[in-house]
Amino acid sequence: MRESWLEQFAETPDVLITPKRERTLVPVRDFVVGGDEFITIAGPCSVETERQLLVTAEHVCRAGARVLRGGAFKPRTSPYSFHGLGLEGLKLLAKAREETGLAVVTEVMSECDVEMVAEYADILQIGSRSMENYSLIEAAARTGRPILLKRGMVATIGDLLRSAQFVLSNGNPHVILCERGIRTFETAMRNTFDAAGIALLKEITHLPVIADPSHASGYRDLVPPLARIGIAAGADGLIVEVHPDPDKAWSDGEQSLNFAEFDAMMDDLAPWIALREPSWGRRHAAEARALEAVECL
Ligand code: PEP
Ligand code: MN
Repeated sequence: MRESWLEQFAETPDVLITPKRERTLVPVRDFVVGGDEFITIAGPCSVETERQLLVTAEHVCRAGARVLRGGAFKPRTSPYSFHGLGLEGLKLLAKAREETGLAVVTEVMSECDVEMVAEYADILQIGSRSMENYSLIEAAARTGRPILLKRGMVATIGDLLRSAQFVLSNGNPHVILCERGIRTFETAMRNTFDAAGIALLKEITHLPVIADPSHASGYRDLVPPLARIGIAAGADGLIVEVHPDPDKAWSDGEQSLNFAEFDAMMDDLAPWIALREPSWGRRHAAEARALEAVECL
């Protein structure tokens, strides 16, 4: 790794790649995140009804997703918006897991809810707006559940790594980093997708990195191309919003794919996923080539 990055990120030593720790495999039910398998996480922004969740879960499962997403506690910018079904939503997620075998990821917004959410979810999501809520992060880390840590919308890579370090420092090595777009001067999209951030994270940290093309773009038309870019940048997986009828979704409908769009995207991504070479593999290949070149001299 570049000396300058080692210096820049010296505050978060445990998240950095070392010769002894090149990648972290995050175990979730019967698979790992951060290994050879590309992991797709899909589902609605919010858990709305039993039927909405179950048909979505069944569909994304058939299309190759490994994890069902769905918010039971929603961080909304208006006090008058839908804020999630709470415990009822968690129970529906657990039911969907039972019926499909998918793992479940859902956001925890408050320290008070950590134990309850951990009882139902396989992975705890720390949302963009909570990335700097260190007491929440510590409480979530101590449950021992894997943590899906979303980059704050105004957070630098260093800020994201500092929050990840909080998880590791609390005895939980299982962090999945998520690039979900950041605020810039651009207003044509909801956020600006930082593909370079994904590439950089894969160079400097041993933690798995996933891309969220839904929140990054805000528009469903842009989700498939951003997903491709995420894969090409080295992401270990995707988290995508899918809804049976996006125009009627209770939150984030404009960026949600319907089932046909999700299927088309998964088909479109297959060759990109097949081409993917995780960065640790690339590094080993480069080292082997360099050694061969020296031996030939
Ligand atoms: C979400 O995943 O629905 C969500 C609220 O994401 P973010 O925290 O990235 O805005
Ligand atoms: Mn959403």
